[in-house]
Amino acid sequence: MSRHSRKLTARERQVYLRLLARTKACRGRLILAVVFGAMFGGSIFGIFAAARGGMARIFGGTATQLNQVANDWVGRWYAGGLHHDGLVTVLVLGLLLFFVLLRGVGYFFSKYLIEWVAQTVVLGLRNEVFGRILRLPMLYFTGSRTGELMSRTLNDTQLIERGITEVICDLVQEPFVLLAAAVALCLTDLRLAVFSLVLFPICIVPIRIFGNRVRRNARAGQERMADLASLQQGVVSGAAIVKAFGTEAREQARFERLSYDFFRRQIKITAAKAAISPLIETLSAAGACAILVYARRTALDLPSLMVFLGALFFMYAPVKKLSRVVLFIQQSSAAAERIFAILDTPDTVFDQPGAGELRGPIGEIRYADVTFAYSPGGPAVLNGIDLAARTGELIALVGSSGSGKTTLVNLLPRFFDPTRGRVLIDGRDLRKFTLESLRRHVGLVTQETFLFNDTVFRNIAYGDPDATRAQVEAAAKKAHAHEFILAMPKGYDTVIAERGLLLSGGQRQRLAIARALLRNPPILILDEATSALDTESERAVQAALNDAMQGRTVFAIAHRLSTIRRADQILVLDGGRIAERGRHEELLARGSIYGRLYRLQFENQAPAAPLPP
Ligand code: ADP
Repeated sequence: MSRHSRKLTARERQVYLRLLARTKACRGRLILAVVFGAMFGGSIFGIFAAARGGMARIFGGTATQLNQVANDWVGRWYAGGLHHDGLVTVLVLGLLLFFVLLRGVGYFFSKYLIEWVAQTVVLGLRNEVFGRILRLPMLYFTGSRTGELMSRTLNDTQLIERGITEVICDLVQEPFVLLAAAVALCLTDLRLAVFSLVLFPICIVPIRIFGNRVRRNARAGQERMADLASLQQGVVSGAAIVKAFGTEAREQARFERLSYDFFRRQIKITAAKAAISPLIETLSAAGACAILVYARRTALDLPSLMVFLGALFFMYAPVKKLSRVVLFIQQSSAAAERIFAILDTPDTVFDQPGAGELRGPIGEIRYADVTFAYSPGGPAVLNGIDLAARTGELIALVGSSGSGKTTLVNLLPRFFDPTRGRVLIDGRDLRKFTLESLRRHVGLVTQETFLFNDTVFRNIAYGDPDATRAQVEAAAKKAHAHEFILAMPKGYDTVIAERGLLLSGGQRQRLAIARALLRNPPILILDEATSALDTESERAVQAALNDAMQGRTVFAIAHRLSTIRRADQILVLDGGRIAERGRHEELLARGSIYGRLYRLQFENQAPAAPLPP
């Protein structure tokens, strides 16, 4: 279905209904909005009656019912006689103003209430989506999707808001306007009304046809223009190829063909556009002539004629607005579909029924024949991983980029679960523990240190808002950050993102280490940064890490020589498998992959040689 189709698909209807279902909580307000919408539309009827009455009094014409009622009223309350006629006119014109005011009040409150409902729906959606994003599986947060997530929460909710407001507003107000105008037409002159109501749609048809023609050609014209641009760009950047193959004439012909097509479209658009207003004018003039002829034959008086034309005029806006409704529904249901897709994302990692608290101390951590694929049926990123880490051991993971190191350690805080096999702590599957208690035991220091726009204190205390000053300082000392923090303008109360305060990469890392240490986790995951730190920073971070590792079981994606040398086990990953394991000296003696990696990373800065398969 094209974006411009006029009919709603079943899917669009379904999504939009789901969206509308969210207005249920505001049902009272919606009903009120309909009442005010009826007031807005219905008052037109009063306006016409009073206008016709007023004109009849001023210009002369058959007395209308409204005028007679006004006459009786004035007669009942005022017997002065002399000013009787003037008072009746004032009363009739007063009624006209009253109905106009009534229409305004109806408009104001129906609009206000509907906007209120729409904003409430969007408020709920926005908060729900944010909450959902917080709980989305880690798999969601890969680079390409982050921007999309941002746009969904912000832009799509905006589209939805417009979809709800415009659609409900139009549906609540315009049918009443249409109805009141139609009734006014019929009451003024039934025969003429039927005649016009048949002709009115027929007049719209040619306007529609020309309108569609403009739209269609404009779209095709845009495509042609894009083709022209890409052809021109190709010729410019591929100038050498064109010349070498001598294809100038062919390119010229292609360009001229596209160019001419664009020209033809533009001319068609101009013709259709220029035809529309004369067409409308001629049609309306013809209609007016027909009505005038009819008025002469049936002795229709001027006030009635004016009201009749006014009512016809008032019917135009509702017809136009109601015909837009489908488009708005289509736009907002497309946005709503994307939003609902987030809300409907199933939890892949969650507390299993009967999950228990993980309580320290932590003994052995074991990966038993763990296989993992990011998508069902996708390539296995980890394959048959077996490993055991005893309390206090340092496990270093090395391997080329993409070999699966990050994936392996991310299984530990259960960012995702193994596709096959199990990860165990003291013989119990991780899935047997509550997520909260498991993650409390795992500290994580990633390569990209993310700092919040907040004070140093609160950045370190991020995982534990109740942390005392003493606890935060202790963590900072362990992370070798205390001294440089004290040297900052306001010490621990310095706001990090403040302009002009730039932390070095090494300082940022040490803050991240302090943050991870604050909760004193028995398990620590380190993704060591290799990014160019100067030697001094490097040394400070290394010292901080060495201290941080004390008394914990550590999984380190290791780039630092000191970490690797000291490691109790070095696991060399290759294509998702553990290719080699052992201590530094053992592996070096054995040669093969580790030896190559080691020399590659630490001894010379020579261009990378391919790893053996
Ligand atoms: P390393 O940490 O050793 O560089 P990773 O564990 O990051 O390796 O990646 C291992 C493999 O898994 C790579 O081929 C990578 O492209 C793929 N991968 C990583 N994250 C995702 C993800 N979120 N979705 C799909 N594939 C991923």
